[in-house]
Amino acid sequence: MRSFNYFQSTEIIFGKGRIKELGDIVSGLGKNVLLVTTHASNQALSEQYEKVISIMKKCGLKVSHFDGVVPNPTIESISLGAKLAVDSNAEIIVGLGGGSAMDSAKAISVEATHEGISWDYLFYKNQPDPAKLLPVIAVSTTSGTGSHVTQVAVVTNTEEKDKSALYNNILYPKVCIVDPELMLTVPEFVTATTGFDVFCHAFESFIHPGAGHYIDLLAMEAISIVIENLPGLLDDPVDIERREKMAWADTIAGLCIANAGVTLPHGMGMAIGGMYPHVAHAEALAIVYPEFCKFSWNSAISQFAYLAKTLNPMLVNLNDEDAASFATEEIIKFIKKLNLYKGLKDIDMPEEEIESLAKQCMVLPDYKNNPKVANIDDMRKLITNSYSL
Ligand code: NAD
Repeated sequence: MRSFNYFQSTEIIFGKGRIKELGDIVSGLGKNVLLVTTHASNQALSEQYEKVISIMKKCGLKVSHFDGVVPNPTIESISLGAKLAVDSNAEIIVGLGGGSAMDSAKAISVEATHEGISWDYLFYKNQPDPAKLLPVIAVSTTSGTGSHVTQVAVVTNTEEKDKSALYNNILYPKVCIVDPELMLTVPEFVTATTGFDVFCHAFESFIHPGAGHYIDLLAMEAISIVIENLPGLLDDPVDIERREKMAWADTIAGLCIANAGVTLPHGMGMAIGGMYPHVAHAEALAIVYPEFCKFSWNSAISQFAYLAKTLNPMLVNLNDEDAASFATEEIIKFIKKLNLYKGLKDIDMPEEEIESLAKQCMVLPDYKNNPKVANIDDMRKLITNSYSL
C-alpha cells in the first residue's frame, strides 16, 4: 500500500433537521456570537437567518449579525466583519451559508484577533496564533465547497486582482453542521456550480500526488454521487434525498481536498476568479475542465478511465487506456447537462488578456500537482483553447 497522512479536526454533525442543535453547541463555547452571512436579499435566506438567530437566542446567546459577506469574499468585506467581531466582543463565529460565508468566518476569526488584515496571513506569509483564534462553527447551505471541513479560507484582493487563500490546520472549523434541509432553496445556477465544484474537488484529489487509498475511497464515492444526482437535482431542486446525497458528497470531497488537494483546474479557476470577480468559482472550473482533461488524461490513465466509465457506463468493457481517451468527450456532455458549457469569451474576458491570465494561472502552486505539469506555453494554449467554443 502507498503511505498516507490523514488529518481532520472538525466535528461533523450531519443530517436533516440538525440545525436545531446549533444553540447547544455554541453555548458550550461562550455567550457572544457573531453570525456571518451574505445579505438577506432573497426571502429564502432571510427566513433561514431568522430561524438560526432564534435558535441561538433561545439558548441565551447574545447574537450580532454581520450580513456583509460577498460572493468571492473581498479583503474589505472581511475587515468589516472583523471590526464587528471586535466591537461586539465575539467569542465564537458562526459562518452560515456557502463557501463565501464559511471562509469569511474563518478569515474574520484571524483578522479580529491579530495585527494587520487577513491578506497578511495567506498560506505563504505570517501564520496565525492558535491560542488567539476565535472558534468557528460552519453551517453549510450549499453543496458545495467543502469549506465546512477544510483548513482553507479563500479571499480576494480586488485591487491586486488576486484571489488567494489562508491555509493552516488551525483554521478547521471546530464543529460543522450539514443539514440538507437548509439547501432546498439553493437556486438552479448555484446548485449547478457548487455541485460541479464538489466533483472537481473529488476528481482533482483523486489525481493528486498526495492521494492514497483513503482519498481514493472518498473521491470515487463523491465522483459517482455527483454524476448520479446532480443533473436530476436541477430538474427537481426540492428532492431532499438528492440534496442529502450531494451534501454527503460535498463533505467527503472537502475531506479529500483537506488531505490531498486540488490541481491545475483549480489554480486556473482561482486566477480567473481573481481577474474577473463576477465569475462564480465553479463556473470558471467548468470553462477550463474540457481542456484540462484533454491535456492530462494520458498521464493519469486509471483515474480518467474511472471518470469516463462513471460518466458513461457503456464504456465499462473498454480497457483503461481506451476508456480514458473518452474522458474529454464525456465531461463536455456532463457540463452541458449542467448548463455550464461556455468559454472565457462568454464571461466577457478580453482576448488581449490571455497572456496575463496565463501568467496568473502559474502563481498558485496547484498546477504543479497535476499529473502532467504545464509550462507557460502549455498554459497559454490551455487558455486560448478555452476562450471561444
Ligand atoms: P457562495 O457562498 O458565494 O454562495 C453563492 C450564492 O448562493 C450567494 O449569493 C448565497 O447567498 C446564495 N446561497 C447560498 N446558500 C443558499 C441557500 N440555501 N438558498 C438560497 N441561496 C443560497 O458560493 P459557494 O460556491 O458555496 O462558495 C464560493 C466561495 O468558496 C468562493 O470564494 C470559493 O473560492 C470558495 N471556496 C472555498 C473552499 C474552501 O475549502 N474553503 C473550497 C472551494 C471554494
